[in-house]
Formats: sequence, structure tokens, C-alpha cells
Amino acid sequence: MDTKTLASDMAGLAEAARLLRAGRLVAFPTETVYGLGADATSEAAVAAIYTAKERPSFNPLIAHYANAEAAFDDVLANPVAEQLADLFWPGPLTLVLRRGPHCSVSRLAGAGLDTQAVRVPAHPLAHQLLAATGRPVAAPSANRSGRVSPTTAAHVLDGLSGRIAAVIDGGPCAVGLESTVVDLAGPRPALLRAGGVTLEALLAHLPDILVPEPAAENAPRSPGQLLAHYAPELPLRLNAQTIGPEEALLAFGPALPGAALTFDLSPAGDLGEAAARLFAGLRALDAGGRARGLSSIAVMPVPERELGCAINDRLRRAAHESRT
Ligand code: AMP
Ligand code: MG
Repeated sequence: MDTKTLASDMAGLAEAARLLRAGRLVAFPTETVYGLGADATSEAAVAAIYTAKERPSFNPLIAHYANAEAAFDDVLANPVAEQLADLFWPGPLTLVLRRGPHCSVSRLAGAGLDTQAVRVPAHPLAHQLLAATGRPVAAPSANRSGRVSPTTAAHVLDGLSGRIAAVIDGGPCAVGLESTVVDLAGPRPALLRAGGVTLEALLAHLPDILVPEPAAENAPRSPGQLLAHYAPELPLRLNAQTIGPEEALLAFGPALPGAALTFDLSPAGDLGEAAARLFAGLRALDAGGRARGLSSIAVMPVPERELGCAINDRLRRAAHESRT
């Protein structure tokens, strides 16, 4: 299959919506990362996502909507869900809620659970695509399962060229980290995945939210919490205070001197800039480091606050995969 690159104009969006409605796979930009979209109401289209990504079929997918009303037609809202939707939608927050009686999302997208994850993305192209498609769109990150998430159309093509119908090129993603996932289906709200909406912002409205220990190795409630995820091929060494001769450097703030290859997430130490550049940095150091015969990627410490929590979560997963 030839994967088309579609322009982010009216014609490109119309073609993307046509392909989605025909059950084909289309990658598209969101403010978090590029999503691999499929008509969420079609079992066959959703099944094609798992095949293209080589994703374990137990991993449930997020359904994306043009607005909150459409989302709450499929899942059972509650006052907390409505409050969070008012505050953070459109935006990088995913809510896990019980499937409603007329839920249009395929059972396969929810991996057979009685809950469904829903989100209204803020990226204008994602919004226009969802509105034009007129159906919920299931969209995990547009990368092969377990690999680094894509934040440009070129990253998508790296992993999925020939496996999907098209990608809309909308330039780099602004947030650069996946959405924050909050489970509202149980008796108490629970953070399932750190992401683009910070824990600090959530705590202001949900003081009783359950938060897992960072990198706890207990059984994951959300498959996205599997430690082996987001992995480059070179091993990662976290909290590096020094740099070895065979190491590439992922820097934060002023870079350690002397590395053979350096990617600075944010020379000024800005967590938002670092989040937006994280996955591109991991890709650049992985490819560049291997080309130069380097043996690992040293990662300077990133503060454990605001978006730093989500950045460190992704780095710990990448490092864990490297060790196994
Ligand atoms: P991705 O699609 O790669 O951004 O990952 C989706 C994230 O949402 C993963 O962490 C999933 O495990 C999580 N998720 C999706 N649906 C559910 C659900 N019904 N219950 C719990 N977690 C979910
Ligand atoms: Mg993913």
C-alpha cells in the first residue's frame, strides 16, 4: 500500500475524512502526538489499527470526538466528568467512563472492557477532521507498538509507511506528550497516565484523585502504564551527572560539555519546550548515536514537577525497556 501524505488544507482534510469513513487508516496531528485514526464504530477499521501498529490486542484505544456532547452520547457522564470536560476540553485530557447504552464505539476499541476512554482534542486540524468524519475516531499514537511516539508526519512515515492509507502533515505537535488519562468510572477518580494536563492542574479541581507511585512496578490498571514503552534502540541512562565517551546526551538546561552528540530539550530549562521536543530528541539521538557507533543515551535530570512528571514517566519507561 502506498501511504499518501495529505496537505493540511480543505482538500487534504476532505480526502482524510473520506478515507476514514471508508474504513481506512489515516494518521493526523493532535496537540499531543500524531494519532493513527480509524472509524471507531467499525470493528474492521479498529482491527486494522492493531495490525498496523503490531499492538497487543488487550491495549484499549481512546475514541476522539469533535465536541463533548458527541463524547457524552457514547459514555456515561457524571458531574466530575462534566466539570473536567468544561475545564480541559478541547485539550490533552482523556476520560475513562462507563460505556453508555447506545455507545457507538466498537467493543474492540475498548478491548472488551465496559469502559471507554474519550477525548476532545484541541488541534484545529484534528477538530476539523473529526467534524468532517462525523464519527468517533479511535486513535492511538501513530507508531509501531512500544516505539517512540511521533510528533511529526516524518516520524509517522518512519514507522508506518506502507501500512496506512495516509498521513495529514500538520507540522510538529505543540504539547509533544500524550494526553493525561483519568479514570472516572470507579468510586474515586484515578490518574492512569501522566500527560499534557499536569497533575498540579488536576489537583486544583480533584483534590482526592488517586495517584500511582512514579514507575511503580505493580500490576498496571491501564495498559499504557506498562513499563516497556516508548523505547529507542540505544539503552538509556537516567539522571546522568557526567557523560561518557560512548554516550549521546539528552540534555535539559545547560548541557554537560563534551558529549559526542547532544540534543538539548530546553537550554533555558522550560518544561513545556522540553515536553514538545522529547520524542523528536529521543529519535534524533537514537538514529544519530547508532550512526556514530555510540552505545547509549545519557539523560540529564528533569525536575519532577508539572510537565516534568510526564517527561520522567516516558523516560523511565524507555529506560526500563532498554534494560530488558
Ligand atoms: P494511546 O492510545 O497509545 O495514547 O494509549 C491510550 C491510553 O489510554 C493507554 O494508557 C490505555 O491503557 C488507556 N486507556 C484507554 N482506554 C482505557 C480504558 N477503558 N481503561 C483504562 N485505560 C484505558
Ligand atoms: Mg502510544
